[in-house]
Amino acid sequence: MAGTKKNPMPCQPGEERVKNFLEVALGYDEDVAINEAKRCIQCKNPKCVSGCPVGIEIPKFIEKIAEGDFQGAIDTLKEKNSLPAICGRVCPQEEQCEKVCIVGIKNEPVGIGRLERFAADWERKNRKEQSKISNTEGKKVAIVGSGPAGLTCAGELAKMGYQVTIFEAFHQAGGVLMYGIPEFRLPKEIVQEEINALLNLGVELKTNVVIGQTITIKELMEEEGYEAVFVGSGAGLPYFLNIPGENLNGVYSANEFLTRVNLMRAYLHPQWDTPVKVGKKVAVVGAGNVAMDAARTAKRLGAEDVYIVYRRSEDEMPARIEEIHHAKEEGIDFRLLTNPMEVLGNSEGWVTGLKCLKMELGEPDSSGRRRPVPIENSEFELDVDVVIIAIGQGPNPLIPRSTPELQTSKWGNITADESTGNTSMEGVFAGGDVVTGAATVIKAMGAGKNAAVAMDQYIKNK
Ligand SMILES: Cc1cc2nc3c(=O)[nH]c(=O)nc-3n(C[C@H](O)[C@H](O)[C@H](O)COP(=O)(O)OP(=O)(O)OC[C@H]3O[C@@H](n4cnc5c(N)ncnc54)[C@H](O)[C@@H]3O)c2cc1C
Ligand code: SF4
Repeated sequence: MAGTKKNPMPCQPGEERVKNFLEVALGYDEDVAINEAKRCIQCKNPKCVSGCPVGIEIPKFIEKIAEGDFQGAIDTLKEKNSLPAICGRVCPQEEQCEKVCIVGIKNEPVGIGRLERFAADWERKNRKEQSKISNTEGKKVAIVGSGPAGLTCAGELAKMGYQVTIFEAFHQAGGVLMYGIPEFRLPKEIVQEEINALLNLGVELKTNVVIGQTITIKELMEEEGYEAVFVGSGAGLPYFLNIPGENLNGVYSANEFLTRVNLMRAYLHPQWDTPVKVGKKVAVVGAGNVAMDAARTAKRLGAEDVYIVYRRSEDEMPARIEEIHHAKEEGIDFRLLTNPMEVLGNSEGWVTGLKCLKMELGEPDSSGRRRPVPIENSEFELDVDVVIIAIGQGPNPLIPRSTPELQTSKWGNITADESTGNTSMEGVFAGGDVVTGAATVIKAMGAGKNAAVAMDQYIKNK
């Protein structure tokens, strides 16, 4: 019988999973998925669909699961979302589709994300061999960056018959899905499978190409014959606190820490000897998904005490609720209403501690969140040997600097039309984190999809 609460997600127990990098959440089996799907009341005016940035026909795919038609469910999902195994794992559903689910008014909302993951995983197990399509006749388009924005845009354009080339600065495609989000939340194999499905559509991938350095956008268009370019280069430039001691050895940006672990395979420790100092006592500054990922990764690599240091309270933490919950279960120590003031070091230049100040909540600020206010004479020192800063990222300035025709905001984001991705440079479109600043996978995908439609129209009207 369908219950008032979501069917619980089976997980590896906390004390076991901190010793490995295997996936934490294990997924629903068929019976549980059908049971959860039956909790959906198939609303005539389904609010969940408008809560989804790519407009998945949620009631329809859930109904298919309830009927045991899993192929029908995945087909419905794939009409709007080409990366469902990824979105089912990392989308902030509680802020989107599930937040407005009508069942959620009285009971717990339908586990839409868990059902999406179920359908995608079912397909991965039952997928038929795809034959490779080759779009040699189509017009050439270039995609800069292989994160969710670039991948989605590439897939949509390939399906329209274009000859698509993705240029990626790293040696591996996937963007944050590969170098940021850790293995225990999003297995790399799944990302690669979804990328391979796109490559099978005939998309060409050129890695180790830094646009703006190896070749410019203008050269791509004027010398290499690309009719249009989509820039999905993300927001990979970390912000720092600008406090004394941030240049000490043992201070990382979360980006650097996670990239080393993910792309240099520290997660396969001890088989891989990756140069990454983990430390015994680690402070992670920030409380978003990136901070949770860094903290939980440090713990898995052997740190004994890991602190989340955040100047606001739990209510304001931007991370997904499930990740906060998992981090707590894994023994991460939350030091809330605590503001770092200085990183302390020894005479050899290594971190020895983090000087902090206690805060209390005052009146709401411009973001609507209650402003943290310092409590006088409340300084204290946290005994740590590694500090990881996870307070946000901005776009790398390389592309705007090498492409002066591209208008940017004062924060360095490329200015682009929200619904088309149109930029100030003719034939150049942009979307994802490079436009919005650090956001979400599904928003980046939505932007890639919209831009593909606009690029097609632009090329046809040329
Ligand atoms: C650690 C971490 C955890 C996160 N967790 C979540 C989560 O749980 N849920 C969620 O929805 N979102 C999460 N996010 C945010 C989400 O991953 C991003 O919003 C999303 O990946 C943005 O997609 P994108 O395609 O715009 O950029 P990216 O994923 O950043 O991809 C950009 C790509 O462009 C490449 N590139 C950059 N410059 C150039 C250049 N000059 N030439 C060629 N290539 C270039 C980069 O190497 C990269 O591969 C997380 C982010 C991080 C960092
Ligand atoms: S709002 Fe909730 S109950 Fe209604 S159709 Fe969507 S998922 Fe089902």
